[in-house]
Amino acid sequence: MPQRRALVVDDSPSIRQAVVGALGLIPDLACTEAGDGAEGIRVASAATFDIVLTDLNMPLVGGLGLVTWLRGRPQTRAVPIVVLTTVSDEENRRRLLAAGATAYLTKPVDAPLLVAKVTELLGRP
Ligand SMILES: [Mg+2]
Repeated sequence: MPQRRALVVDDSPSIRQAVVGALGLIPDLACTEAGDGAEGIRVASAATFDIVLTDLNMPLVGGLGLVTWLRGRPQTRAVPIVVLTTVSDEENRRRLLAAGATAYLTKPVDAPLLVAKVTELLGRP
C-alpha cells in the first residue's frame, strides 16, 4: 500500500497534536505540520499531499486564504481540504465552501469523526 500524506495546518500546537494523533489511526498516512497558512503554502509548494486539514483563524494567512491558494493552482486544485472551525464560524463556512473547501468539521476535534471523514475523502489507495 503506498504511503499517503496529510498536511495539518493550525496555529495551535495542541490542536495539531490532537489532529495528528487522530490521523495516526489511519494506516500508512504520514502527517506534516504547519503553524499558519503562510507556512502551509510554503510546505504545499514543495511537496505533494493527498489531503489538507486546516484551521480557519490563523496569523499571516488564514484558512480561507490557504483554501483559495490551493484551489488556484493546478497541482492542488483537486486535493481534498477539511477545515476545522468553531461553532461560531457559521458565516465563514459558506465562504470556505464557496472558495473550494471540501468539508468542515467543528472543534473540538472529534477523533472518530475526523478519522471517518479523512478515510472517506482519501478513498481506497
Ligand atoms: Mg487558530
